[in-house]
Amino acid sequence: MSFKNLKLTQPILKALDAQGYTTPTPIQKQAIPLVLQGNDILGVAQTGTGKTAAFSIPLLQILAEKNNGNRGIKALILTPTRELAIQIDESLAAYGKYTNLSHSVIFGGVSQVNQVSKLKRGVDILVATPGRLLDLMNQGFINLRQLEIFVLDEADRMLDMGFIHDVKKVIKVLPTKRQTLFFSATMPEEIQSLANMMLKNPSKVEV
Ligand code: AMP
Repeated sequence: MSFKNLKLTQPILKALDAQGYTTPTPIQKQAIPLVLQGNDILGVAQTGTGKTAAFSIPLLQILAEKNNGNRGIKALILTPTRELAIQIDESLAAYGKYTNLSHSVIFGGVSQVNQVSKLKRGVDILVATPGRLLDLMNQGFINLRQLEIFVLDEADRMLDMGFIHDVKKVIKVLPTKRQTLFFSATMPEEIQSLANMMLKNPSKVEV
C-alpha cells in the first residue's frame, strides 16, 4: 500500500516523494481517508507513530483544494510545547510545499512581535501553544471565525502540563460547525470526557 492508494492529490504526493516517504504508517492508513471524508477523529497514538503527518496531510489537501487565495485561519493546531509546535510547523512546510497555503507558528517565552507581524500578513494554518494563543486572541490579533478544522494534539499532555483550562477556553470561541481531530497517547477519564464534549460522531483510530 502506498500513499497513492489514499486518494492524495499530486501536490501532496510530490511533497511526500521529496520527503522520501514511500509507505504510510498504520495511523496514516487509518486516519487519512477518514479525515478526507470530513469525519471527526479520536486518535489514540504516541509520538513516533507518524501522527503529525496523519493529520497534516489530509488537512493540507482539504484546504488546498478549496483555496481561493483569501487568507484567514482555516485550521488551528493546538499542541502543548514549543518544540512540538515548531516540529508541526516544519511538517506543514514540507508536506505543503507544493500548495499555496500559508502557515505560521506561535508559542510563548519569546517576543510576540515577529509572530504578530506574520499573523497580520495572513495565515491559513496556525500552529499554537495554548497560552500564547489566548494572549494574542485577547489582544485581537487572531480571528477564528473562518475556522474549518481544529486539531488538538497530545491532549493528555495538555492535562499533565496544566493547560486543560486554557484549551477549554479556546474551544469555546471556535465555530461549532467544524471538523475536529483529537489526538492523545492515553485516554484517562478526564480526556475521554473532553473528547466527548468536542467531537461529533468521531471515528476512532488506534495504533
Ligand atoms: P511523528 O509521530 O508525527 O512525530 O513522526 C515521527 C517521525 O516519522 C517523523 O520524523 C516523520 O518525519 C517520520 N514519518 C512520518 N510518516 C512517515 C512515513 N510515512 N514514512 C517515513 N517517515 C515518516
